[in-house]
Amino acid sequence: MRTAVVIGAGIAGLAAARVLTDRFDQVVVLDRDTLPAEAVPRRGVPQGAHGHVLLLAGQRALDGLFPGLLSFLVREGATDFDPGQDLSIYRYGIIWPRAATGMRLLSFSRPLLELTLRERLLEGSQVEIRSEVAVSGLVAGESGQVTGVRLDDGSVLPAELVVDCSGRGSRSDRWLAAFGYRGPAVSEVKIGVGYATQLYRRSPGDLHEGEAVFVMPTAPGGKRAGLVLPIEGDRWLISLGGWHGAYPKDEAGFAEHASSLPHPAPARLLGSCEPLSDLTCYSFPSSRRRHFEDVTRVPGGYVALGDAICSFNPIYGQGMTCAALEAVALGELLDEYRSPSPALSAAFYRRAAEIIATPWQFASGGDFAYPETLGDRPRGIGLLNKYSRQIQLAAQVDLDVRKAFTGVQQMVLPPSVLKRPSMIWNVLRAARKAPGRRALS
Ligand SMILES: Cc1cc2nc3c(=O)[nH]c(=O)nc-3n(C[C@H](O)[C@H](O)[C@H](O)COP(=O)(O)OP(=O)(O)OC[C@H]3O[C@@H](n4cnc5c(N)ncnc54)[C@H](O)[C@@H]3O)c2cc1C
Repeated sequence: MRTAVVIGAGIAGLAAARVLTDRFDQVVVLDRDTLPAEAVPRRGVPQGAHGHVLLLAGQRALDGLFPGLLSFLVREGATDFDPGQDLSIYRYGIIWPRAATGMRLLSFSRPLLELTLRERLLEGSQVEIRSEVAVSGLVAGESGQVTGVRLDDGSVLPAELVVDCSGRGSRSDRWLAAFGYRGPAVSEVKIGVGYATQLYRRSPGDLHEGEAVFVMPTAPGGKRAGLVLPIEGDRWLISLGGWHGAYPKDEAGFAEHASSLPHPAPARLLGSCEPLSDLTCYSFPSSRRRHFEDVTRVPGGYVALGDAICSFNPIYGQGMTCAALEAVALGELLDEYRSPSPALSAAFYRRAAEIIATPWQFASGGDFAYPETLGDRPRGIGLLNKYSRQIQLAAQVDLDVRKAFTGVQQMVLPPSVLKRPSMIWNVLRAARKAPGRRALS
């Protein structure tokens, strides 16, 4: 019997497990947390209480793995919206004019997504999810091939493939060092980001600007961001956050942060809607990327996936999408390589690095617009940031630029579309007419 073990039942673990069910006789997902029977936040993923936006590429990937997922989420109360028409964006000095992009996103809570994926996964008869089971290490044969996991109670669960989806805190460096493997180099970008989130009752007519709101500050002076999402259960999820300590830490700070934003909606909703939860806070000191793709000797029978490889600044909303795309890539490579060899692991890390490259550059580019940001600065970021600012100004007035920018941001278009000569010409021409330029000068 071919068995695969997945460590962690977060979004990465559930997507990976779905891919493995088509390729192994048995798939066992282990999570040290208690997994709730309802769509509520849980201790093992404290970020779950905060706003989670699934980018279009992630939606498509997850809907491909779990057919019917999106329509199910809509039936459960998720809101369907166009990120140009129904999302009211404040960025670079103005609330952007509405412009239909033809793209459809869904807004829901992270716990609803997780619960739905868990339930869908369990429809497969060969899958088992064991909660309250912690993995404490790996087991390997003499050749160094990983052959299973060791559990906290000392028992061993044999597996032909172990997929480590234990998140940002993955202990794989220590686990693999026990068999003589060197851990990957780490890129870290210190951003001092934090979030505070509260849920409110949602009634028709609460918001006039659109279905959802996103406020992005203009670096380096502005550091405060805001996100308003309509989620299932007729609720507003309001997450207020920022860079380098500029985020609320208590209820008074939450209200003050909302009223300081250059968009009226968050403060208006706070003042008029009934709170349905306590305020929850979260701090995220740094983005962290582990370069498994550069490791010369990786073990067969083991791959890390999701936040265990790369944990992005959450404000850009890329983590779940990258995890889903990596899971899809793992499935394709399993079909190509057949057995979980070191070559398969190395090929997987190369593919994962390709998936991560653009979102990492996009996120760290934005982060290094703040002089307080410390860490591994990607080369050429100054020039890229200057062009990125022109693109976003141009997107305020030019529909083609807006669609291309949104497509790249949603990871469904390659960044090269923004570098074509005709697009550069459009961007530079349109940026000169952008109202945001006047507001910034
Ligand atoms: C505040 C915040 C907001 C975010 N917003 C967004 C967003 O808008 N869009 C987006 O795409 N992403 C967002 N993210 C990122 C997103 O949460 C992750 O990228 C995504 O969930 C993938 O994570 P994962 O499954 O790899 O890890 P996690 O979600 O951290 O799951 C890891 C799982 O492993 C389990 N585990 C850990 N160690 C062990 C062990 N030893 N044994 C057994 N089980 C173990 C944990 O209990 C947990 O269930 C946000 C993150 C934060 C912090």
